[in-house]
Parts: sequence; structure tokens; C-alpha cells
Amino acid sequence: MRPGELIAGDRGARAQQHGDLAHAWAVLAEVMDPEVPVVSVVDLGIVRDLDWRAGHLHLVVTPTYSGCPATEVIEGDIRHALEQAGFAAPALERRLMPAWSTDWISAQGRERLRAYGIAPPEGSASLRGAVPSVCCPQCGSAHTELLSQFGSTACKALYRCRACLEPFDYFKCL
Ligand SMILES: [Zn+2]
Repeated sequence: MRPGELIAGDRGARAQQHGDLAHAWAVLAEVMDPEVPVVSVVDLGIVRDLDWRAGHLHLVVTPTYSGCPATEVIEGDIRHALEQAGFAAPALERRLMPAWSTDWISAQGRERLRAYGIAPPEGSASLRGAVPSVCCPQCGSAHTELLSQFGSTACKALYRCRACLEPFDYFKCL
């Protein structure tokens, strides 16, 4: 939409409809994480709330790892996808508390990570500090070793499987 269009009569405003909200969730389910393009923003659990306010979609988004440079990209992708789907000028509210936790990743999201070759976070964030037993996403072996606290991004650690010898990323538990 062009700048000023909103002011000129707010033509983007829509009546509140439940079906539209379901559609918006479906659109969000297609917005993939730029770093891990197999999991959506819904899989990651970063869209905390979605509702109508004054005729516009209002989203509450909690970024994953604070300082993750992907956050602005994700928010731009969300906005773009909703506008493409006909939801004019969605409002995004960034909420930092409570902080995002890997506990919020859906079961489907964990399965998609594994299929992509990234070991999903093990256990709960409340067990932080405990050494997780990380299973190899290739062969399922629990005989794995930590190579580096930082994998392909700061959000992941690099592991290697002692059974099949494949290195793999582990999505750190937060
Ligand atoms: Zn393996």
C-alpha cells in the first residue's frame, strides 16, 4: 500500500470476522524462518496473539533469540505476506516479555527441524544448564558430541554423531 492511503478514509479497514482470523493464521503458517526455511513463524511460536483492532490485524510478535538479526527480516516477511493476502496495514507489536522459549516450538516444528537435519531443542527451558542428550537427526543415535557452542548461527550449536560421524546443528534450548 502507498503512504497516505491509510489516512485517506482508512480504506484498508475491514469488518471483524472470525474466518478472516483463521485465514490470517493460515497465511502466517506459510511465513518461514529466514534462517531455517522449513519452520514457519507459527511453528516457532513467535506469533503470540492475533486479533482485530480498529479494523486492522494486530499481531503480538516475540522474537526468538534477542539480538537475532533475523527478527527484522521476519517481521517484514510477516507484514508482506499479510498484505499480499489482503490484510491491509497489519500492526505488529514486538513483545519481549516473557522471553521466547524453545518450549514454544510446536511438535510439527520440531519434526520439521529434525527432517531438515537440525536436532530440535531437547527438554524444557527450565532445565537450562543441564547437559541435554542430543540425538542425531540423521540416524537417531544418542551418541553425539558437542564440537562448538556456535553452529551455522549463534542460535545453534555444532554437534557430531559418533555413530554415523555426521556433523549437525542443534537448536539450542532457551
Ligand atoms: Zn548419526
